[in-house]
Amino acid sequence: MGFKNSKFYSMVAMTCPRCHEGDLFKTKSAYKKGMADMNPRCTHCGEDFGREPGYYYGAAYVSYGLTVALWVAVFVALVTFDALGIISFSFFDDAVLFLVVGISVLLILMPVLYRLSRSMWIHMFVKYRADAVAFNDGKRRAREERRNEKTQEAIH
Ligand SMILES: [Zn+2]
Repeated sequence: MGFKNSKFYSMVAMTCPRCHEGDLFKTKSAYKKGMADMNPRCTHCGEDFGREPGYYYGAAYVSYGLTVALWVAVFVALVTFDALGIISFSFFDDAVLFLVVGISVLLILMPVLYRLSRSMWIHMFVKYRADAVAFNDGKRRAREERRNEKTQEAIH
């Protein structure tokens, strides 16, 4: 399994967690109209991205974690720039600068965070399978068989 096949790459590239091929979102860019629209299923293996109603509420926790990480990153960046003599930053004197930079970065990255948190959330629960197409095909067949059995029972 190379880097391109890794869970991490698929998470960041926002591809299907099952086959790492199809796209989770309808647009490739987070800054295009309809950036929040997800494909209902994978165009490659047919994996259901909708899962169940309210499935993506949990993505809010991921989003929260990412936001905290972002604030830490902004802080580290400012301290580093200060150490390198590029800017002058001290947390207690320049709290406003910290807030302005932090909020700006957050606003700019909001669409990316939204998509990334959903991608990370579904990747936590769906396992990669090299035989994803056949696997999902089998699942569908099993589901149809179950449905057929039920209609058979209803008839008898
Ligand atoms: Zn797929």
